[in-house]
Amino acid sequence: MGRQCGAPAKGNQARMMRQHQLIERVQRYNPGADEDLLNRAYVYAMKAHGAQTRASGDPYFTHPLEVAAILTDLKLDDATIAAAVLHDVIEDTAATREEIDRLFGPEIGRLVEGLTKLRRLDLVSKRAEQGENFRKLLLAVAEDVRVLLVKLADRLHNMRTLHFVPPTKRARIAQETLDIYAPLAGRMGMQGMRDELEDLAFRHLQPEAHAMILARLAEMKQGGAAQVERIVGEVRETMRAAGVEGDVHGRQKQPYSIWRKMDRKTLSLEKLSDIYGFRVLVGTVDDCYRALGAAHVAWPCVMGRFKDYVSTPKQNGYRSLHSTVVLPGNRRVELQIRTRRMHEIDEYGIAAHALYKDGGAADETGAYAWLRRTIAMLNEGASPEEFLEHTKMELFHDQVFCFTPKGRLIALPRGATPIDFAYALHSDVGARAQGAKVNGRIAPLLAKLQNGDEVEIAVADAPTAPPPAWEEAVATGKAKAAIRRATRSAAREQFSGLGRGMVDLAFRRAGKTWTEDRLKGVLSRLARPSLDDVFVAVGRAELKPVDVVRALHPSYTEAGRTGARPDAKEAGWFGVRRAANLVFRRPGREAPEASEEASAIPIRGLQGDLPVRFAPDGGALPGDRIVGILTPGEGITIYPIQSPALSKFDDAPERWLDVRWDVDPDRRELFPARVAVTIANEPGALGIVAGAIGERGANIDKLRFTGGAADLRDLVIDVEVQDLQHLNDVIKDLKTRGKTVVNAERVHA
Ligand code: MN
Repeated sequence: MGRQCGAPAKGNQARMMRQHQLIERVQRYNPGADEDLLNRAYVYAMKAHGAQTRASGDPYFTHPLEVAAILTDLKLDDATIAAAVLHDVIEDTAATREEIDRLFGPEIGRLVEGLTKLRRLDLVSKRAEQGENFRKLLLAVAEDVRVLLVKLADRLHNMRTLHFVPPTKRARIAQETLDIYAPLAGRMGMQGMRDELEDLAFRHLQPEAHAMILARLAEMKQGGAAQVERIVGEVRETMRAAGVEGDVHGRQKQPYSIWRKMDRKTLSLEKLSDIYGFRVLVGTVDDCYRALGAAHVAWPCVMGRFKDYVSTPKQNGYRSLHSTVVLPGNRRVELQIRTRRMHEIDEYGIAAHALYKDGGAADETGAYAWLRRTIAMLNEGASPEEFLEHTKMELFHDQVFCFTPKGRLIALPRGATPIDFAYALHSDVGARAQGAKVNGRIAPLLAKLQNGDEVEIAVADAPTAPPPAWEEAVATGKAKAAIRRATRSAAREQFSGLGRGMVDLAFRRAGKTWTEDRLKGVLSRLARPSLDDVFVAVGRAELKPVDVVRALHPSYTEAGRTGARPDAKEAGWFGVRRAANLVFRRPGREAPEASEEASAIPIRGLQGDLPVRFAPDGGALPGDRIVGILTPGEGITIYPIQSPALSKFDDAPERWLDVRWDVDPDRRELFPARVAVTIANEPGALGIVAGAIGERGANIDKLRFTGGAADLRDLVIDVEVQDLQHLNDVIKDLKTRGKTVVNAERVHA
């Protein structure tokens, strides 16, 4: 920072920056600056803020001007400076985005709007433990790094003038600065801005500690400088003697970082190592360990102070070797050993990646070089997306950040849904989720969440089995795993119920009775650990029902049932709840019409592990006589009894299973069926057919021509109807369309 570190401005009234002074500041580094633009922004903001004043009593307009001044120290482009001057007008005055766009162009309009959005986010930033997520949210919402730069400068000026703010508010603002904005500045490679923000926050949060450290630093500085030089020389000599090429530097630590590491019990600040740290910068990773070796050979090291962040980097990517050694005279020296590249990454954060992307050594050094270059790139017309990619900010673009109604921040992967949100809150909330509100409006449980969305989950009293298809629709591993588990246990329940019914039927066919207790007594003969396992095995067709009968009645032999299709009159049907066209909204909540489409994943038959499925193109309708075909390990497939496909199973009577419909009449589901229609080849014929089907409330799913002779055309139409009766009505209607429809009949695949 080019400005005085933390010097509070006093009595600014006389010193409000004039129009020409702002222009001069910009022209110093950018002779081609758009003077007219800056002048117009100045005048507009001054008029807009009018007689507003700050807590200090200064005209409010001094604030945006000072923010702009901070950004001129960073040598930022015209648009950023203008946006800084205008940054509070939308939120605090009658100005609108449209007006800013019209007067200053959409680029500046976007920047000012971005700042307005960030200011509104301030309202939810109050929880300190959310610091890391909130920083990411800022990055994700800002979209243009210049918005963040103005935001940081805004915060810096507010911190410089914090002493004017009522004491009750100071602590919160200072804490937020420490938690969110100082680390963000560090992240963006603005070490100077970070140090000043931390120093100002520290001063307000711990005034006594701050004063004490400053006083001790001043005391120790006398004579300290020479001592530091001596140590640098000794370390340098040790490296040279060991043949390690490296630069050695000593640096005074910041008051806040001294405080952070200080022994809070003794509050002592005596040792040089409390105040000065030393760095050895080398060429390669190999050199790091050789330098460390040289130091440890020359001097004893302090146990417990050695950290190897080179082989195991910190989570933020920081790499360095840390060790504290004791030089003669009991002088403790903290060493950080790292390569120059690691050093740059530490110094510039995400900026370093941009530097290296450009091919290594940059001409300009310093924290802002990358910003200048990337901003120049923006001015050359690159889209904000490319810019973000360039600066690696897309690191956060694969995430979305959402809030609970109470302001808790939840970080989720991009593409996450309210279901993911619910499981992220708590697995129990996920299991009971039955509806969602996003930003106060009812939303589908599988809607894609956006940054900043406030999400409210409505829960049922008890967990409900989620539709298996959700597993593919959610984005988080936690939600996927929970849904998979729930699906498996639901499937097991279904297999078990199916198996129990099959066992019961087998006993009745054999003319025998059974009880659970008696079956439990012969589990060992069935080689299953529990009765439920027996039923599941039967349901999965891994165990024959007749074998269960034989476990109790070893002499029983199944007679008289070979090669025959099941007799419809025979007792013992199994209920099969038709599950086609399931709308995957859990019961208990009516979603509005509009969201129905998005929230529903219609499927044909049950999927995943579930045992009941419908034969493809089987066209089984409620009202049809249906049969199930068992496939070991998979479950049963439902066919209408007249399906030609069934002939494949004629030789495997043990796989046949009687089933019946158990349709929920309130559900009004539609089922697929196929109709063959022959029509006259004349204009409007197709319209008449479609009209007849539509009038009956059936849907046409697919329609294709299959041929035709002379004046006739053959059609195959896949329709969706409620049941067999409905289909018959449709066919009857078609047949009454005079000469247009020559024939209509149901067909099976
Ligand atoms: Mn402001």
